[in-house]
Amino acid sequence: MQWERVTSRELYEMIREEVCIIPIGSLEKHGEHLPLGNDALIAHKVALMAAEEEPAVVLPPIYFTYTKEMKNLTGAISLETDVLLSFLENLCDEVARNGFRKIILLNFHGGNSNILRVFLQHVVDKGKEYAVYLPPIFLAPEVVREVKETPETGHAGEIETSISLYLFPELCKMDKVPKEFSSSKRDYDVSPASTSIDWYAAYPNAYVGDAKPASAEKGKRIVEAHVEKLIDLIRRIKADEKVLERLKEFNNQLSRPEPQAKDR
Ligand SMILES: [Zn+2]
Repeated sequence: MQWERVTSRELYEMIREEVCIIPIGSLEKHGEHLPLGNDALIAHKVALMAAEEEPAVVLPPIYFTYTKEMKNLTGAISLETDVLLSFLENLCDEVARNGFRKIILLNFHGGNSNILRVFLQHVVDKGKEYAVYLPPIFLAPEVVREVKETPETGHAGEIETSISLYLFPELCKMDKVPKEFSSSKRDYDVSPASTSIDWYAAYPNAYVGDAKPASAEKGKRIVEAHVEKLIDLIRRIKADEKVLERLKEFNNQLSRPEPQAKDR
């Protein structure tokens, strides 16, 4: 299942499953109590749990991504925008060259969401013949709503800490959780417009809400529901051929656009 742990021949056998998962996280401060690599650690574990049930190959997690908004805090490693786009393209090309036509980007870092959406269009524009799938960070938001006790939760808060406590308790330092609730400190209102500094202005210490009510039990419920949904998604991706068909159609028309799509 894990690209780095199987032999060449074993990987070759897995190509018939078509699907490769790339777990994606970050390196950045996660409050005072969670590890810098928190998101990639989650993405990797969740990917392995799902691939156990529905065969798919899992690549080693990507830690080096996009965390511009936390570069003010020790531990952030953020790639330049163009470097990250080229890196992702290069990586997906290599995965596809080995025979996988369907690539799932399993991201657990909110700061990557926008650039990954850009990447989806970047890939099409480059005329790639493989499909890239981007699930949302929370596949079972209803369970998150059920377990949530704090009114405001986000980065390193109740929910994320619960997931970490379930998946890698040995890396969670609960005695370091701040005593005070961390609500938004944003001191301006230009909504609904966004600005470049909204995240820092609201959460200068990369901590949202309160991690004290977090528990491994809550994390277990969220992760189990998430993995169930991911298994179902992998199955639907395996069964689907239309995304690749539509991609091919679109690619064929890229070089000679006409006023009306040819095949639709
Ligand atoms: Zn995180």
